[in-house]
Amino acid sequence: MKGAFLIKPYNIEIREIEKPEIKNKEDVLIRIKSVGVCGSDIHYYKEGRIGDFIVKEPLILGHESAGIVEKVGKEVKNLKEGDKVAIEPGIPCRKCDYCKEGRYNLCPDVIFFATPPIHGTFCEYIVHPSDFVYRIPENLSLDEATLIEPFSVGIHACNLINLKPGEKVIVSGLGPVGLLTSLSAKIYGAIVYGIEKSEKRIEFAKGFGLEDIFDTKKIETKEIKNILPEKVDVVFECSGYSGLIEETIYWVKRGGKIVFIGLGTDFVNLNISKIINDELKISGIFRYVNTYKKAIEIINKNKINLKPLISKNFPLTDIKEALEYPNKNPDCIKVIVNP
Ligand SMILES: [Zn+2]
Ligand SMILES: [Zn+2]
Repeated sequence: MKGAFLIKPYNIEIREIEKPEIKNKEDVLIRIKSVGVCGSDIHYYKEGRIGDFIVKEPLILGHESAGIVEKVGKEVKNLKEGDKVAIEPGIPCRKCDYCKEGRYNLCPDVIFFATPPIHGTFCEYIVHPSDFVYRIPENLSLDEATLIEPFSVGIHACNLINLKPGEKVIVSGLGPVGLLTSLSAKIYGAIVYGIEKSEKRIEFAKGFGLEDIFDTKKIETKEIKNILPEKVDVVFECSGYSGLIEETIYWVKRGGKIVFIGLGTDFVNLNISKIINDELKISGIFRYVNTYKKAIEIINKNKINLKPLISKNFPLTDIKEALEYPNKNPDCIKVIVNP
């Protein structure tokens, strides 16, 4: 089978490798059909590392994946050959305190696609434990099913702060994660405002039923606090841009909550006395936990059309173009690779 290996920054090679085989009775063999290009893939492609995770050996990127079950292990009960599936990319140890408490996203021994040295899914086949593989409805395309991964981030963010109906929310940065976080918050019954600078994304986000979207091309980020119709209960910061991160504390009410989702900068200036005086609750989120099944159900029951989020498709042989497309086309939302 073919796999796309990142050799060093900007250098990707399609190599012929052995097709994986089922070794564990609870595993399934999946023919990968669609993989979303994530910001993290692009980061590895350009820098060869994210923080402490360094690509030392050739690595297959890709973790937002969907495919078709080709073969199931003897003990697999939830899936059968031919099922269309979405694949949750992280396999936790199942034994540590975090795993036992149901917070397996924090498991220190999690094995996660495309995080060195674990290969991802820009390839034709993978073998995966069946309980991290989820059947999707017939009417959901495999391309759309890749979006369950970023949608999971949004659902996890809403779960983590116990978002309630009627609460007011700002989502800053309306890329794929920001848009899908807005969608999650809407489904949880929140009233959602957006902040974004790309005209196309703003145009697109209007279709998500946001209350209002503030265009940071026209408004200084520092001005946003002055033009908000009211202070909000929650901010989901998805841009990762320090200028916005530093402003979030002025958008929430006293006792409000801020969740940092977007990665972009390691250090920012935050007004600590404001945080203390307003008793703000600030948290980060790391990936997601127990969201895949819910996400599939939400998409199915609400008949959510995710197709418009997909900007362009590429075959595996054009992976280099696929990884470079989003930076060359900043208005694009999601690029999909079809191995
Ligand atoms: Zn991702
Ligand atoms: Zn664990």
